[in-house]
Amino acid sequence: MNHILPPLPYGVAALEPYIDARTMALHHDKHHAGYVEKLNAAVEHFPELHERSASWLLLNLNKVPEEARVAVRNNAGGHVNHSLFWAAMTPKGKGIPAGHLADAINRDFGSFEHFKSRFEEAAAEVLGSGWIWLARAQQNGGRLRVFTTPGNGNPLMQGHFPLLVNDIWEHAYYFKHENRRPEYLKEWWPVVNWDEVARRFQRTDHNASNHWAAEGELLLEAG
Ligand code: MN
Repeated sequence: MNHILPPLPYGVAALEPYIDARTMALHHDKHHAGYVEKLNAAVEHFPELHERSASWLLLNLNKVPEEARVAVRNNAGGHVNHSLFWAAMTPKGKGIPAGHLADAINRDFGSFEHFKSRFEEAAAEVLGSGWIWLARAQQNGGRLRVFTTPGNGNPLMQGHFPLLVNDIWEHAYYFKHENRRPEYLKEWWPVVNWDEVARRFQRTDHNASNHWAAEGELLLEAG
């Protein structure tokens, strides 16, 4: 069992009322656990992959045997993205970004309010299941951009470095918000862990953006 479900960095009720405890428990203990279990099953018969991290597998799918590739893509993506998602939230959310990160958001989106609107709009437009990201674009010197990925994709697969993520699969919000994804997105901001976003931002600040993909395995580690 190479891949292990990481514990939540807070209790299941810690993000109430923004993320309800029942959703959090099922999301972590069933959905995320399911991806870990299926990832272990997908690589079971390929010893050459046993020591590889989920991030490495996601970024090196061309080195994964073809018969395992779809399962590895979906489940390594689910595992990596959920790990980033838990770290992207905190019960001690400060509500707004600070420092160089705040400057970059103002520079690239005009204002924090514009950024939030762009993020919410882009997420609302995703048809079906996916993820919404704030990421540093591979082009233009690492400018900040909003990206969406369908299924369990990750922006780093296209060379864009992820800073913040929200899960927009229905299982992330359905108990509380039913089919109202825009409501979930709008009410989510108080639990964003801006310290973690800033940490990720600073970690790549000194790097030329075209090196991100090469360093990606480590850069995808959460927290
Ligand atoms: Mn999820």
